[in-house]
Amino acid sequence: MGECLRRACPCLETLWKRSFGEKPPSAGGGKGTGEGGGGGAGEGGGEEEADPQEPAPDSSSLYTAVWPFEARHQDELSFREGDLFRVTSRSGDWWTARRTDPSGRVLETGIVPHNYLVRAESLRSQPWFFGQMNRFEAQGHLLAAGNQDGSFLIRQSEKDHVGHVLSGKWGQVSPSWTKSRVPPTVRSRTRVKHYKIHEAVDSFFVEPSQIFFSLVELVKFYEWNNLVNTGRLGSVCRRWIEWELPQDQFSLEEELGKGHFADVYRGRWKNHINVAIKIIKSDSELDHREFQREVQILKSLRHRHLISLFAVCTAASPYYIITELMEKGCLLTFLRGPEGALQDTAALVDMGAQVADGMSYLEEQNSIHRDLAARNVLVGGDYICKVADFGLARVIKEPFYISDDKKIPYKWCAPEAISHGKFSNKSDVWSFGVLLYEIITHGGIPYPAFSNQEVYQQVTKGYRMPAPAKCPDFLYSIMLKCWSHEPSERPSFKSLRLQLDGSLYEMG
Ligand code: ADP
Repeated sequence: MGECLRRACPCLETLWKRSFGEKPPSAGGGKGTGEGGGGGAGEGGGEEEADPQEPAPDSSSLYTAVWPFEARHQDELSFREGDLFRVTSRSGDWWTARRTDPSGRVLETGIVPHNYLVRAESLRSQPWFFGQMNRFEAQGHLLAAGNQDGSFLIRQSEKDHVGHVLSGKWGQVSPSWTKSRVPPTVRSRTRVKHYKIHEAVDSFFVEPSQIFFSLVELVKFYEWNNLVNTGRLGSVCRRWIEWELPQDQFSLEEELGKGHFADVYRGRWKNHINVAIKIIKSDSELDHREFQREVQILKSLRHRHLISLFAVCTAASPYYIITELMEKGCLLTFLRGPEGALQDTAALVDMGAQVADGMSYLEEQNSIHRDLAARNVLVGGDYICKVADFGLARVIKEPFYISDDKKIPYKWCAPEAISHGKFSNKSDVWSFGVLLYEIITHGGIPYPAFSNQEVYQQVTKGYRMPAPAKCPDFLYSIMLKCWSHEPSERPSFKSLRLQLDGSLYEMG
């Protein structure tokens, strides 16, 4: 039932939060100040005004996004890497947060996935912090395609005595030039500038008249105010390949499970963010172009009931696939364990509804799963269920995909998928019927008395599993519909989701 409440409450909360007022923008400022010598003259400056409806700034709840996110629900917020948030309530995987501008002004309020955010105070978590890097590497990054005027990064110089350096890309705007009649083509030529950041205990500055407690504050200030002889900081420098990250940014902790193609570990990104790391066993046999194509597809599939892909490491062997971490592991093991035994019928039906929700999104995207089963659904800390292992999902141009894959999980597969390799959203629906059987039997084995071959023979002759003990009638009739011989007679995931949600409502 948890998910039902989660679906309802955030909307109410969001509506309520939307009535909050907004703060006027301000240039922010440092520890000590003055008018900002050199190029530090600010735009839109002014003291931050107290807003009676706005809680006092609380640095403990300031977060920054480490991955971009696209909202799929009206209550969710879309955001970019580096956006700032004040988290106002934390409940499970989805938190209520206010997206703010660098001066603290509230831009919008909504629901955000918690594992895309990290505390903003940590330097390593800042999207603009590129770690140790020399000036030539920084230049390479900044001059790469896609970086606009004002793109910047902060790096740790390779020379110990230098410390942190702010590197940015700007058009040439030397004061003598801007007043002269230099042709625009020359004026607009860009170059990379490097500013040493002077550091003492708890103070950072580029120019002595503007001193800050932290690099985060320094960056925020120069997003609104000009740097000496240049402009303001614009967007964060793009990394060369956004989704590709170096393996040494990830540390491995305990093993979570072993699969056919990969071993999965709990791990951390930059010692900070919890992630699941899937290490591919035999990447030498992989078709690399196909792998990259799959990654492109997975990147674009985002839904609260699908596992999110965070990054890949494919520069060296073995390949890593980085996804969100699901604390309670796979649904099958969960259902068979002590916690699974405690789930009542309504909670079990709710799990089915959550899977149907994720699958209905895949259906909308014309993507097929081909291996839907309880072993490929993962359970989060707050019992949220997410469909995983849709690595074989393909965007299809034709109504179904003709497969040459012989490794078929017979007991979950629709007859036409076994006989003709015809995988489609409707063959996923058949598998979903078997998944409902697994859920309602707390992880029971489907067709317990039959071998794989016997199942296929029996099913094509019209045999269907009988209703399991304690299975509500409505649920068994949904299973039978999923197992209609004709794919076209099977329901869609959209209608399955509505039916299961409706039944939950009736169950109270
Ligand atoms: P394969 O696809 O090679 O069979 P799986 O993806 O099924 O491998 O992973 C094997 C096991 O690892 C799963 O059964 C589950 O227990 C665990 N696991 C996989 N992904 C995660 C994750 N994101 N969070 C937590 N545990 C996971």
